[in-house]
Amino acid sequence: MKILAIESSCDETSVAVIEDGKKVLSNIISTQIDIHKEFGGVVPEIASRHHIENILPVFTQALKKADITLKDIDYIAVTNTPGLIGSLLVGLMFAKSVSFANNIPLIPINHINGHIFSSFIESDVKLPAISLVVSGGHTNLYYIYEKDEKIVTELLGETLDDAVGETYDKIARILGLPYPGGPQIDRLSVDGKDILKIKKPKVDGYNFSFSGVKTFITNYVNHERMKKNEISKEDISKSLQEAIVNILYDKVEKAVKEKNVKTLLVAGGVSANKGLRKKFENFSDIEVHFPKMEYCTDNAAMIGVAAYYELKNKKIDDKKNNYDVDAISTKEEK
Ligand code: ATP
Ligand code: MG
Ligand code: FE
Repeated sequence: MKILAIESSCDETSVAVIEDGKKVLSNIISTQIDIHKEFGGVVPEIASRHHIENILPVFTQALKKADITLKDIDYIAVTNTPGLIGSLLVGLMFAKSVSFANNIPLIPINHINGHIFSSFIESDVKLPAISLVVSGGHTNLYYIYEKDEKIVTELLGETLDDAVGETYDKIARILGLPYPGGPQIDRLSVDGKDILKIKKPKVDGYNFSFSGVKTFITNYVNHERMKKNEISKEDISKSLQEAIVNILYDKVEKAVKEKNVKTLLVAGGVSANKGLRKKFENFSDIEVHFPKMEYCTDNAAMIGVAAYYELKNKKIDDKKNNYDVDAISTKEEK
């Protein structure tokens, strides 16, 4: 079964072709990072305009790289939520047009489900598993298990305030580092010391909180600057990195033990983080899986794989044409 998948929820335009839910025949990603860098973050209006320019060439390239035509495609998968509304609309409208003109069923996919299933790309995941999705806008912990031959993803906890990626990006901005800040902080932290030793917030259950860490560092930096003291970006980066990684580790460790799982899956943009990867190597008696770098940040391959499992789990009616699905910006709007 071949699925053509389209992703345009933020500032990456991506089209992929996936075979039998595992094999990536192509995964073309056109990122707008260099365009938005100048503004210190993604400018929604500019992002949607660039998606319009990029979508057709990226789509053409994805088919070419996979060495197939639309006649070989069984389904078209597309991200319809959550994300920037203008950006989502470009991908969704494009997907609807291709689907309608070629009579190929359309499958709407939740972007965060895509991040969860990026762990299944080119690998056999042993279930039950705990999945940690750490991205620009989300920090979610899931329990994933099989029931009646279907894969169930149960949300155990989430951030009560800022997401991890957002925290990295905001602190990076305060330090005057370019967008996106996560990779910059990750790089600088290697040469830094954990001078701040930030205490972990007390949050019940499997939920997370990062706003305290963000406020603590912001106040520290402002205070030192007011006193005209030199601040070391490396030391701040290391302090942030340690605080975040330890908060994540604690909750993940609790979930891994309590749910007695075989595998730990980490996904989303922040799963590219080297400090996080190193710390999570500590889970020695279970399999720890991080996606390849190109499947960590936004990509269409993960959307195609998520669609494969939605079909397999019969979560979606593939006889229905789904042309009534809307682009939905946030989960609250659902
Ligand atoms: P969401 O998936 O929640 O809608 P998004 O799509 O914007 O948000 P992703 O593309 O999955 O998020 O990830 C982007 C985020 O990952 C950014 O916040 C970026 O700073 C962060 N990131 C990327 N690489 C690293 C790294 N090495 N260390 C820390 N953060 C990183
Ligand atoms: Mg992005
Ligand atoms: Fe994402």
